[in-house]
Amino acid sequence: MNLETPIENLRYAGKNYLPKLKKLGIKTIKDLLWHFPARYDDWTESGKVEDIKPNEKISIIGKVAKIENKRIFPRRMVLTTASIEDETGRVKAVWYNQPFLVNTIKPGKLFSLSGKVKSDKYGMYLQNPAYEMVKSEIRDDNLKHTAGLIPVYPETEGLTSRYLRFLIKPLLIKFSDKVPEFLPKEIIERQKILDVRTALKEIHFPSSLEKAEEARRRFAFDELFMLQLKALSERRKMQRQKSVSIKFNQAAIKNFVSSLPFELTGAQKIALWEILKDLEKPWPMNRLLNGDVGSGKTAVAMAAALETAKAGYQSAIMAPTEVLANQHFQSFSKALKDFDLKIGLLTSSGQKGEGISADIVIGTHSLIQENIDFKNLALVVVDEQHRFGVEQRASLLKKQNSSFLPHLLSMTATPIPRTLALTIYGDLDISILNELPKGRTPIETKLIPPDDRKKAQDFIREQIKEGRQVFVICPRIEITENSVSKLQPKNKQLSLKDYLKYEVKAVKAEYEKLSKEVFKDLRVAMLHGKMKSKEKEEIMSKFKNRDFDILVSTSVIEVGVDVPNATIMMIEGAERFGLAQLHQFRGRVGRGEHKSYCLLFTESPLVGETRRLRALLKTNDGFKLAEMDLKIRGPGEFTGTKQSGIPDLAMASLADVNLIKQARSESKLILKEIARYPLILKKLEEFNKKIHLE
Ligand code: ADP
Ligand code: MG
Repeated sequence: MNLETPIENLRYAGKNYLPKLKKLGIKTIKDLLWHFPARYDDWTESGKVEDIKPNEKISIIGKVAKIENKRIFPRRMVLTTASIEDETGRVKAVWYNQPFLVNTIKPGKLFSLSGKVKSDKYGMYLQNPAYEMVKSEIRDDNLKHTAGLIPVYPETEGLTSRYLRFLIKPLLIKFSDKVPEFLPKEIIERQKILDVRTALKEIHFPSSLEKAEEARRRFAFDELFMLQLKALSERRKMQRQKSVSIKFNQAAIKNFVSSLPFELTGAQKIALWEILKDLEKPWPMNRLLNGDVGSGKTAVAMAAALETAKAGYQSAIMAPTEVLANQHFQSFSKALKDFDLKIGLLTSSGQKGEGISADIVIGTHSLIQENIDFKNLALVVVDEQHRFGVEQRASLLKKQNSSFLPHLLSMTATPIPRTLALTIYGDLDISILNELPKGRTPIETKLIPPDDRKKAQDFIREQIKEGRQVFVICPRIEITENSVSKLQPKNKQLSLKDYLKYEVKAVKAEYEKLSKEVFKDLRVAMLHGKMKSKEKEEIMSKFKNRDFDILVSTSVIEVGVDVPNATIMMIEGAERFGLAQLHQFRGRVGRGEHKSYCLLFTESPLVGETRRLRALLKTNDGFKLAEMDLKIRGPGEFTGTKQSGIPDLAMASLADVNLIKQARSESKLILKEIARYPLILKKLEEFNKKIHLE
């Protein structure tokens, strides 16, 4: 057996457990050793029976004198009571609802117990103590459940910490001194981190909590180091690919910028400059434009596409929804009308303009269909990039049989906290728009508890009378157990189709209520995900033309829609949405000259008071909100990172900017001579297979 041995070969990893272990991504002995505890139970205090005191924690070793089960009828409970004795006395141990213990804890046997001491009128007893059989009264290295700092592993259905300790402890004893150290000595010394063998022992069965923390830091460093190395090496790989160098076209850019009805913000100028610089390189750009909602990413993309077109190459702009593709088609056509360019639109409902042969081709997923061939694609812009998978983007990049790769500009309106950007991308190739265009009045956000509904509706009516328009977002559907069980067994995830069905039902109900009751004198329209794109587009453009006062919608409008005359964003069941999404919704208003409002309707005053909603009231700054979101939800749950496979410890150490920076500088040094470090190279290969960064 060695570290790479599959867990199937472990005698004690039975058939019942294998699938559960696999579900955690544990395939080999090494994976098991790298499955770390979430916390520790502190059973470091040990003594004799005579030392026990009420309400203290203690570990003792004693012989089982007696053990029996008692049924307590009124409460339908089974109580297991044991008498444990050592040379100083006798104490009771009590367990609840574990009648099977009498098969393990047998009279005459020596046991080590760790638990909290309770007392009642009959005396003191250990409540639900951890237990394990021992050979002698001397505590040795083999103890795994009692005495000391005992690891508690992250909860997973059917895999108890007791079982994992049972599996891991012997492996740790056998293998921890054979684990190869992949970090060079210099790094370990410079960074003052534990060597991997010590760290492995200390993270599972620490000698102190300080040591456990040091071990955690060592493994966090490993992960951060690998992330940085990955980012750097990918960048290097990219620089070996060929792309077309598109020379800065001062005249065209100048003309474009002065033709805009506004002045670019400072952040827009810097981002555009960074992008134009990248386009000049003979290798493909791979840049992320991370801007808050309404920060004006489109204008930046337009300038890049214009410059590409003027150099004689095509650009493709890919949008996640048809509504958005249409809107881009219109705004590109309008903004670039005096520049003698052909602009095309390609969606599943057909094409407009020149289609695929245009200078700038705007579209949805349709752009990546098999039969679509570009002439000479040199720039790909992916809007709202988090909506697309890595493969989809890759296939767009491969869309032509030419000797060069197109430049890639990804745009996202989901602000990424700086620490996260630093970790994931190594802070490379990201342009940030953290400044909103001048002259926008900040959006006023209000929490509307059920009692204030009427007042809020009156306010909406007033705004509409003044000529403004209103978005209404329906609550995200949370399927209750009742409604699910009708469809399929409990705990199963609802399929997208079923989900849409529910969503449509909810939107229709809301639409009926608003159009026939609450606002029956106003013009109300509805938009949902099951409508044909033609229908959606028609409604959107009518709404833009002010043919409707109110647009009731599901989250389909979340992405990118621009209706400057809309001043109210009303969100039903606001507590059901995530912070990032709420912020996106809010960004749909406040795009014109009029003061705008975001009204968060909550279903009960209690849930309305969540930290999330309060964060939204506090600031309009998406980057600040992202930091708060990271804090509130904890790194594990942060947008999109779960699926990306970013290691937990790296995520958990996001607050430690210093550690991130150190990992970055070390990885830079190593990359220069990476061939000298075969273990690191091997690890990088494994790492690349595991991680899918967007
Ligand atoms: P997003 O970054 O969310 O995609 P858009 O590109 O849709 O934002 O821009 C939002 C609105 O702001 C558009 O109506 C756009 O014309 C306008 N806009 C963009 N840049 C500026 C600017 N520098 N000054 C004023 N308005 C701007
Ligand atoms: Mg946009």
